[in-house]
Amino acid sequence: MARIIAVANQKGGVGKTTTAVNLGACLATLGKRALLVDIDPQGNTTSGVGINKADVSSCIYDVLINEVDAHESILATGVEGLHIIPATIQLAGAEIELVPTISREVRLRKALQPLKTKYDYIIIDCPPSLGLLTVNALTASDSVLIPIQCEYYALEGLSQLLNTIRLVQKHLNTKLEIEGVVLTMLDARTNLGIQVIEDVKKYFREKVYNTIIPRNVRLSEAPSHGQPIISYDPKSRGAEVYMDLAKEVSNL
Ligand code: ADP
Ligand code: MG
Repeated sequence: MARIIAVANQKGGVGKTTTAVNLGACLATLGKRALLVDIDPQGNTTSGVGINKADVSSCIYDVLINEVDAHESILATGVEGLHIIPATIQLAGAEIELVPTISREVRLRKALQPLKTKYDYIIIDCPPSLGLLTVNALTASDSVLIPIQCEYYALEGLSQLLNTIRLVQKHLNTKLEIEGVVLTMLDARTNLGIQVIEDVKKYFREKVYNTIIPRNVRLSEAPSHGQPIISYDPKSRGAEVYMDLAKEVSNL
């Protein structure tokens, strides 16, 4: 049965998409069957694995709003063992369209249920908000993986995220756990990064992964080539660290 992991943090630009894409691709490289689910209307995960959004005929919007069978929206990627349910800009309307619908918080959970036997990991890339799309992801998931950028305001806004997680645990998904916290975009040349690591470890303790993702130019270049780092530059530091993270997440 698949472990469903939501990659969430309502702050934009903290490395959610980079982590979702590369964790998924590295898990697939380790022989796991992995499915990415893009629920950010920006669709960066979708383009990040080489899917041209103009060619997508059925996306996560159709699954959530039109109750299209999730199987019909699954696409293969260039990485063997890695599939995706894509998002297009159509999804931008979903946050509002979901409001008056029946069982609006549990639609993603219901849609992913039949896929659980087909994958080892289902990784949901959340949008930068705590709205209904993120609530759907948290409700559908076994756990939440929180990327935190190593910068000055790193812990700011985390209490809102943790509060949302608690509300979902209380009302919608009692088994939701914190999978782990991954520190991203560390600039080893500054002391600030070290300070942030200490602060985050004080707060999240053993939940913080040993693997810390450094700033790596190859990681920022890979999406414009529509490739996860493991395909774009398998020998880069970025590929190495996301491989390490995938091993930590899968207890290898
Ligand atoms: P989010 O999904 O949280 O908005 P992204 O994963 O899209 O964040 O990352 C924001 C930007 O930072 C992107 O342009 C991405 O390519 C870049 N980026 C992410 N992680 C790294 C890293 N470790 N090193 C360099 N650039 C990175
Ligand atoms: Mg993103």
